Amino acid sequence: VRCRTASVKRVCLSAKLQKAYDKIRDEFTISTEKLKDLTDRFEFEMEKGLLMNRGTIPMIPTWVTDYVTGDEKGDFLAIDLGGTNLRVVSVHLKGSSDFDFEHVKYVLPDSVRKCSCEELWDFIGDSLAEFMQNRYKVTVVQKIIPLGFTFSFPATQGRVNEGVLQRWTKGFDIAGVEGHDVVPLLQNAIDKRALPVKVTALINDTTGTLVASLYSDLETKMGLIFGTGVNGAYYEKASSIQKLLGSLPKEIARDGSIPMAINTEYGAFDNDHTCLPRTKYDIQLDEESPRPNQQSYEKMVAGYYMGEVLRLILLDLHQQGLIFRGQDVSKLSSPFIMDTSYPARAEEDDFCDLCQIYNMMKNTVGIQTTLVERELIQELSRLIGRRAARLSACAIAAICKRINCTTGHCACDGSVFHKYPFFKERAQEALDEILSWNTSRLPPIELVAAEDGSGVGAAIVACLAQNKKLKKHL
Ligand code: BGC
Ligand code: MG
Repeated sequence: VRCRTASVKRVCLSAKLQKAYDKIRDEFTISTEKLKDLTDRFEFEMEKGLLMNRGTIPMIPTWVTDYVTGDEKGDFLAIDLGGTNLRVVSVHLKGSSDFDFEHVKYVLPDSVRKCSCEELWDFIGDSLAEFMQNRYKVTVVQKIIPLGFTFSFPATQGRVNEGVLQRWTKGFDIAGVEGHDVVPLLQNAIDKRALPVKVTALINDTTGTLVASLYSDLETKMGLIFGTGVNGAYYEKASSIQKLLGSLPKEIARDGSIPMAINTEYGAFDNDHTCLPRTKYDIQLDEESPRPNQQSYEKMVAGYYMGEVLRLILLDLHQQGLIFRGQDVSKLSSPFIMDTSYPARAEEDDFCDLCQIYNMMKNTVGIQTTLVERELIQELSRLIGRRAARLSACAIAAICKRINCTTGHCACDGSVFHKYPFFKERAQEALDEILSWNTSRLPPIELVAAEDGSGVGAAIVACLAQNKKLKKHL
């Protein structure tokens, strides 16, 4: 029997479990006041990052020094190495804000996260070769095709076709890449396969989202990813990027109106642990990750981690003797066995007996749940999902404040934004709270679904890279 879940509580928790739950609920609930504080901290850290790389937020200049006009034209390839998939895309920019594209998605086998450097580039090179064989049929292509590489990790850029990986995120841990420029590594894999392709630009997925959305929507103020990882990009006045002042070409440094896209890498916010309300579960998750004390904010809000937080809470409550009594929890004990589709599905289960949650727990972790336990799992998922969405709004609000933006669109992409129930509504509501808007009217700054940033965006930047302005920095 289906019934709407938001209704009355159907079952009672035992007194002890209720107490444990109440504590968790309090720790996961973030007040408006706290959101505002965090936003101020965020803004301050962004400013420090632009000044001299001293803050926790890297604020990486991308050398994308043009607004996109929609007139960009031509044929391009893009490779998108995200957190979960590898995509190969061919894009035809028609000018007039329009484009066609074709893409193939290759699921990154879990082993790739921790494979060797050679295996990673071979996997990418083979995928590109296969795509081109199918797309172009003929093996001899007359012209060299420019390729934009969407690399969704923090990479320092001294120019638009360079990206020195600062550190892996999202559970990646491949030796021999950190500290290296990934553009020649990719070009090598391409040359080894004799493909007529030149990597002309490297972009972050958020930069891609920003420019691709701007291509068709001039109201776009920032590009945001809420997916396996989280991050945002926006245009800063080039002359305000203090840390670049020595290295900016004179005409840019002098002209206060020239913009440059900044890949903020705000997932690193609060790596020094001074303000985020981390629970013991967040601390445990961080300590057990391959890169402790990195991506502190991301670890509380991103899709790679939300399921894991749920797993850690459940395991803890079991160890306290409060749930799953007499059940075998060996499967539940294995890290990352529950991805973020678990809390997502738990929140969505609107059957009276929560049978979706029953099946999910039985099939993947081999635990038979009681109705009380399923009810608890649903409530915990709501806490995790709501906290992620609310905390996510702080970064958005901070960027709005930074650029004095009072109206416009925030272009959002990523699996959490698109698939996690109520994420968008919760984040928008929290944004309205932080910026103290009258919510009876339409919000002046709106979260909207982005254009395909990592493919089309990469093509646009590859195109911009061919025009004069960017060439100066090559
Ligand atoms: C990476 C960013 C990326 C984000 C979303 C983070 O882990 O550091 O570069 O934009 O994930 O994919
Ligand atoms: Mg992606």
